[in-house]
Amino acid sequence: MKLLTVIVPCYNEQDNIRDFYNEFIKNEPFLRSKDIGFEVVFVDDGSTDETVANVRKLSGEDNRVHLISFSRNFGKEAAIFAGLQKSKGDYAVIMDADLQDPPALLPEMFESLDEGYDSVATRRVSRKGEPLIRSFFARRFYSLMRRISKTEIVDGARDYRLMTRQVIDAILAMPEYCRFTKGIFGWVGFKTKWIEFENIERRKGESKWSFWKLFAYSIEGITSFSTAPLAFAAFAGLLFCIVAFIAIIFVFVRALIFGDPTSGWPSMVCIILLVAGIQLFCIGIVGQYLAKTYLEVKRRPIYIVKEEL
Ligand code: UDP
Ligand code: MG
Repeated sequence: MKLLTVIVPCYNEQDNIRDFYNEFIKNEPFLRSKDIGFEVVFVDDGSTDETVANVRKLSGEDNRVHLISFSRNFGKEAAIFAGLQKSKGDYAVIMDADLQDPPALLPEMFESLDEGYDSVATRRVSRKGEPLIRSFFARRFYSLMRRISKTEIVDGARDYRLMTRQVIDAILAMPEYCRFTKGIFGWVGFKTKWIEFENIERRKGESKWSFWKLFAYSIEGITSFSTAPLAFAAFAGLLFCIVAFIAIIFVFVRALIFGDPTSGWPSMVCIILLVAGIQLFCIGIVGQYLAKTYLEVKRRPIYIVKEEL
């Protein structure tokens, strides 16, 4: 008999725990027909509501339900990593607690594994019910990533993914602190099948992602999986050197021919400001990567467990 580990990151999802369980359990006949057992690992990411209590209660009723509770909020990426580390399954699947990742897709996903795929990923093809400005920036982010990163990061990709033990172990072998999961999945490779579905709005509660949180997350994605901004800084520097060199020759020759009347201070100030701005911007880019390196070399744990069931 094979085992499937279901990893459910939860941050203040008290009203969704039972709904999720009820929805997932509908897959039980299918799993049994394939001789696959399951365990559900709810990873509580430092919730401040009744999430932990609700999972505890559920775990008392069904011993296949497990809990990992963090000492504080470490982020969804850390929750996924913790779930994968605890998973004992031959397969693992990551699903959101808010039922935006429909558990009903599971049979179709297993079918693809039988076809010889190592992992089955999902992407939503619409962004229905999402603020327009958010969709716009999300699209820009993905098209930029496609151009500057060698790692494939798919537009609309969810973290909802079924994978074999081989893929799980590959992901666990990446111990980095700054975990941009979408990039990590792409980076480890393997034969991946993509299943598409229409966006589903979350069942209860609210999304944890504000616009600025998403913006910071996109910067994280770029700096974790591309060094193109560093190359941009070097390129900008070179370009300015060339322009300055041509300007020097021009000014020198003009002074020889026409003399050097003192004028042009306003334009000079503008140029100084522009160049200083670009310099600071480039130092900022370097700083982003330095900060990343700093965080990584501290080798802090990715999460801290307070309670485990
Ligand atoms: N989540 C988490 N830690 C966080 C934020 C979110 O574990 O710091 C979980 C959350 O409980 C949910 C999933 O990650 O199960 C997706 O979060 P959310 O629904 O808020 O994101 P969205 O679907 O709006 O992208
Ligand atoms: Mg959601």
